[in-house]
Amino acid sequence: MRFVHDTLPQRVRFASDGAAEGLAAEVAALGARRVMVIAGTSEQEPAARVTAGLPVVHRHDDVVMHVPLEVAQRARAAAAERDVDALVSVGGGSTTGLAKAVALTTGLPIIAVPTTYAGSEATAVWGLTDNSVKTTGTDPKVLPRAIVYDAALTLSLPVELSVASGLNALAHCVDSLWAPRADPINQALAVEGARALRAGLPLVAAAPAGMDGREQALYGAYLSASAFASAGSGLHHKICHVLGGMFNLPHAQTHAVVLPHVLAFNAPGVPEVERRLAVALDAPTADEGLARLRERLNAPHSLRELGMPSDGIAEAAKAVVAAAPAGNPRPVTLDAITELLRTAWEGTDPR
Ligand code: NAD
Repeated sequence: MRFVHDTLPQRVRFASDGAAEGLAAEVAALGARRVMVIAGTSEQEPAARVTAGLPVVHRHDDVVMHVPLEVAQRARAAAAERDVDALVSVGGGSTTGLAKAVALTTGLPIIAVPTTYAGSEATAVWGLTDNSVKTTGTDPKVLPRAIVYDAALTLSLPVELSVASGLNALAHCVDSLWAPRADPINQALAVEGARALRAGLPLVAAAPAGMDGREQALYGAYLSASAFASAGSGLHHKICHVLGGMFNLPHAQTHAVVLPHVLAFNAPGVPEVERRLAVALDAPTADEGLARLRERLNAPHSLRELGMPSDGIAEAAKAVVAAAPAGNPRPVTLDAITELLRTAWEGTDPR
């Protein structure tokens, strides 16, 4: 056995109903005295609740999906004006992403309190959008020093968003299994993440105010993101990145729609991985497990319903082939990707 696996330096706290105490301990550990809290408008209530006891000098609610450069610059200016010494983000991937954009140029430490299953808090990947072009990069400065997970803060996430976000997390697990730096450690994280998401998400959909499903889903989301951070982007993420950028599609929902199509395409090339995923999804095959889960969750079906134009398929297919990761289990040809995108656009069952 020969492989090199990077682990990221970060404290992870699971604190159901205890985010305020967990956050206070992390701020004290940093010795921070001038905290900037970043939380979007629909994240204000939980943010106010968990940060009430902190030495806050500024509350920043100017959060926009995919972090437009001008939004990042306003947040950076606000941090500089108030001489901030730590950032606390309370919210989904967009909010964490804005904190990362500030950390990228200032080196300020981040403590992340996630309220969706996007998983950005467990990666050192940042993203910025300028003139409709999204650029991403990796920098250790943007990795939050600590994460405080509190499932109670996810209770207000509407079911539809919870389902899409949970399938976005499952996509991190599945794509990690064949990604460029897949190894036995991140595969173990991915398989356990898939198991937890399969167990938790149907409970969330059936009883959104129950803690059991929310805790399993959040635990699975952390595992999915740490597997992804270590294994890198596989074919699925390249496809979603192209589609999101070209057609401005919603992030989590695009992942939810595309995942079964990439799984059906790649699974025959990785039979051993397919077996492990099938077990995690509690079904005879991985495809079948994902189909059953999506049915229970009433997941979105087609790129058409997300607003992608049908005449965009050819252009998107070319861009996917150009961006395809080396070492994908099956050859990424223009014909194969055109067919994959066509079935995803129509919402045809890929099995
Ligand atoms: P999001 O952060 O845009 O949140 C979606 C909506 O849900 C927002 O309106 C938000 O205010 C609301 N919301 C969040 N938590 C809520 C709660 N508990 N209750 C009620 N409403 C709530 O969406 P997302 O899917 O979490 O994140 C997507 C963004 O994250 C994308 O820009 C994506 O590129 C980025 N991302 C980055 C990484 C990375 O590693 N850098 C990983 C995953 C996602």
